[in-house]
Amino acid sequence: MRSNLTTTALIAALIWGLGTLPAPAATPPSDSPDPGAAPTCAASRQGPVDKSDVPAGVDVVDCRLVGRVISDEDSGLSAPVPSPGETVSVEGLSVDGRSELTVAVDESGTITYPADHHADTGASQSVAVLAGLKTASVGPSECRQTAYRTTGWKVYGNFPWWVGDGARPAGLSTKQFRSVISRSASTITSSRNDCGLGDVVGATHSSRGSTTKEYGHRDHVNVIDFGPLPRKMAGLTTTWSVKHAGRNKVVESDIRLNRNGFAWTTSPGSSACRNRIDVQSVLTHELGHTFGLGHVSNRSYPRMTMSDVVEPCSSSARLLGKGDVRGLAALY
Ligand SMILES: [Zn+2]
Repeated sequence: MRSNLTTTALIAALIWGLGTLPAPAATPPSDSPDPGAAPTCAASRQGPVDKSDVPAGVDVVDCRLVGRVISDEDSGLSAPVPSPGETVSVEGLSVDGRSELTVAVDESGTITYPADHHADTGASQSVAVLAGLKTASVGPSECRQTAYRTTGWKVYGNFPWWVGDGARPAGLSTKQFRSVISRSASTITSSRNDCGLGDVVGATHSSRGSTTKEYGHRDHVNVIDFGPLPRKMAGLTTTWSVKHAGRNKVVESDIRLNRNGFAWTTSPGSSACRNRIDVQSVLTHELGHTFGLGHVSNRSYPRMTMSDVVEPCSSSARLLGKGDVRGLAALY
């Protein structure tokens, strides 16, 4: 954090809880079929809704879909339908590449699925690949590669986070988990890198204790926990944002690490490490999403924190690469 922004951060922290929209007015329940109902309200009444049953253009307020979980077969991801005016994005980090799902609902209640969630914010998608390609031929180095992507949202002020109470890998206490999260978040908010680059982030984070809230619900609590996730997904970040001058403003961001699908470690450099994923590396990557960074390709930029593939027994994502820092500099 930059110290001269303390006042700004404090003010932003104060309005954090006010920056969210009220829940939409409930539509009165109706037992009899409404002959005038739009034919597009085809979703089942209970359980997850298939994305193909809720095409772009459906009014999710009329169809009473706000809060219902939409499942997308293509990405293997799901997200709760946001309230009017909000956009929700899920970013997945796996062993074989990225998965992303974005669901946006405009002020009038109309749902869309921006294929590129950068496009619906008015913020330009920043891709700086040329410099990265030039240096790729001399071997991967996180201090020479300059590629980054931004998502279109950012944290204004402070990001308070809570530790979820879901079961964690054996040996990882709440205290340890909180300390790893704190280090990971500070890496983003202090632009920690080993390339000699200075701090570019005018935003902060703060630890707020434990919660029984769970990942993936729009409950105004930023939860970081372990729990079940789709196969191959090491970590997921679900971020809700609202329109704001410039980049969208983050109003909630939840992070989950896959409890059952992976073996985790806090010592990836240990000679005993076999096929274990570093908790801090994945958390730093996921918090990068929270603060507005998107993925870069692992094939071209394997040493970037925002590389889209997680590698066992690697700690390279713990510190930012030059591209990651440039991305943050573009945001903050
Ligand atoms: Zn990711």
